Amino acid sequence: MSLNGTSEPVSGLTEKLRKRGAKTVALQFPEGLKRKAAGIAAALREEGFDVIVSGDPCYGACDLSLGLLEYADVLVHFGHAPVDDRPDVICEPYTVGFDIAVLGKAVPLLEGAKTGLVTTVQHAHLVPVMEAFLKAHGIAVRVAGGSGRTPLPGQVLGCSFEAAKIPGTEIILFVGTGHFHPIGIALATGKRVIALDPLAGTVEEVSGGALLRRRFAAIEKAREATTVGIIVSSKSGQNRIGLARRLAGLRGNAVLVMMCEVSPGELLNLGFGAYVNTACPRLAYDDQVRFPVPVLSPPEYEILCGARSWDEYTIDEIP
Ligand code: SF4
Repeated sequence: MSLNGTSEPVSGLTEKLRKRGAKTVALQFPEGLKRKAAGIAAALREEGFDVIVSGDPCYGACDLSLGLLEYADVLVHFGHAPVDDRPDVICEPYTVGFDIAVLGKAVPLLEGAKTGLVTTVQHAHLVPVMEAFLKAHGIAVRVAGGSGRTPLPGQVLGCSFEAAKIPGTEIILFVGTGHFHPIGIALATGKRVIALDPLAGTVEEVSGGALLRRRFAAIEKAREATTVGIIVSSKSGQNRIGLARRLAGLRGNAVLVMMCEVSPGELLNLGFGAYVNTACPRLAYDDQVRFPVPVLSPPEYEILCGARSWDEYTIDEIP
């Protein structure tokens, strides 16, 4: 059925659910896809399933509504590839296509360089076509296989740039929207990064310089704090309690703080002079401007404590 109707096409999904013997199904959508909940729920009900929808905020497959499995046989998480495998969870990635010819805009910037190709989950289904297009235009391109948190070939996440760390490459071509991923790739690999937005049709070289200057300022401000909260996430794929404990041991004034949603209001209420974020790495980088006090990444806190030098600065990733 159409997106304007009461239900959405779910044939592939119903097959997977029947194979697992599911009768009651929980559905979870990230913020950008929540409006699809009613239509997909209606379609699954027509197919004979009982349905329950998670209404909580969700930003990634790291944040599964596992509590709903108390009421449902299977949780279906839309929009992302799995960050770990569970038999009671089905991940249904949401694909976004584009005219492959747009890659031609990046070709002049890649000529003569060994190039790595990466993208986000929405465009990962087009990786073989993108690779073939670049090769046909004389670019020596390579794509990393999937691994760990990024199971699709060439896929990167805001917390994992593994697919960009291809030995022997000189330039990484990132195909996707926004600046965070290409900046993260530049910092994680130390390589030149060309960012192609396939929907806007823009191409540019991206560096991590501006982010580094802001992060240096945050580290210096955090030195003044007399109390430090080490944030530990209670979300399924963001919990790094071992890392948090190690960081808390670096200095005497740090306390572990377990949280689900990390919000400016909660950090203000808790009243620590600075925080170290072991939850989603993007929080410290993207949202610092919203937070009342410095929120450092784990490597930044190591720099503050003298356990790492500034020359060893690296972007935070979840292994
Ligand atoms: S930890 Fe952050 S960047 Fe990683 S998958 Fe979750 S929301 Fe995305």
